[in-house]
Amino acid sequence: EARTGGAPVRIYSPAIDEMHRRRFQLLQDFDAAIADPSQLRLVFQPRVDLASRACIGAEALLRWTHPTLGNIGPAEFIPIVEHSTHARAMTAFVVDAAARQLASWRKAGIGVNLSLNISAANLQERDFAERMGQILSRHDVVPQELELEMTESAIMKDTGLALQQLNALAQLGVRLAIDDFGTGYSSLAYLQRLPMHVVKIDQSFIRGIAADSRERKLVGSMIALSRDLGLRVVAEGVETAETATILSDLACEEAQGYFFARPMEATAFAPWLALQAA
Ligand code: C2E
Ligand code: MG
Ligand code: MG
Ligand code: MG
Repeated sequence: EARTGGAPVRIYSPAIDEMHRRRFQLLQDFDAAIADPSQLRLVFQPRVDLASRACIGAEALLRWTHPTLGNIGPAEFIPIVEHSTHARAMTAFVVDAAARQLASWRKAGIGVNLSLNISAANLQERDFAERMGQILSRHDVVPQELELEMTESAIMKDTGLALQQLNALAQLGVRLAIDDFGTGYSSLAYLQRLPMHVVKIDQSFIRGIAADSRERKLVGSMIALSRDLGLRVVAEGVETAETATILSDLACEEAQGYFFARPMEATAFAPWLALQAA
């Protein structure tokens, strides 16, 4: 919009028009995707204990194969859905699918825990923790085996309601993690007042630690402070052996990244795990 003499004048832009059209279509089609088991699925990225290099868990990540547009990246569809009324249904789908997977891995003797991502809007749902408990018990999943990842901005949004839900979730027994830490405006001192268990340091900080000693110092102090506050620290986006070694030296407890494994289909996870253990 441009302003001439106080009246807004729309400047026609085919590119922006096309973008809006696609966003609108994706949002509309996501509604159908939720009800269609062939379109949405979870993939799993291993989380590795840095000291033992053993896989102790995995992050569940949502994937969408659209019937005509093909694979839509999470970076495109998740922000659209998160800001819509479908946020509730999306997370319900993810929690249900993750709990079902966890139960089936338990039956097969696979002892990894799962983490999954929730949206800011979910913490504004008054019955979020309650419904979470219902889904977990329906699948016979122990809450302690599940971790919920959320960004700093999700917590800062409406602190009253969010805090109420966080406390209820912690009471239920699920673990709570701050995702993409360092990209928002919160501080570890603030997070300490919340019922948080885990801090995942954003990949933008991890990427540079091998080449840049100042980045290394910054990450080192994030790890030290987190541990002092009793939080478990996970480094995201570890892509090289050197980065993994540096993080071990900095006393980082856990890591996730392409160096260890990319996100994989559920069917590929068990064979991968068996190969690692061998
Ligand atoms: P996130 O929760 O921070 O997840 C980590 C992202 O980093 C994943 O991207 C993962 O594939 C990618 N990644 C992992 N290791 C590396 C690495 O070594 N290098 C690089 N360059 N990237 C790495 P993905 O799956 O595309 O998801 C992107 C974001 O979309 C997620 O970031 C999360 O914020 C959101 N997301 C994904 N699945 C869900 C979901 O089920 N619900 C919600 N609410 N958000 C989701
Ligand atoms: Mg995450
Ligand atoms: Mg992250
Ligand atoms: Mg993220």
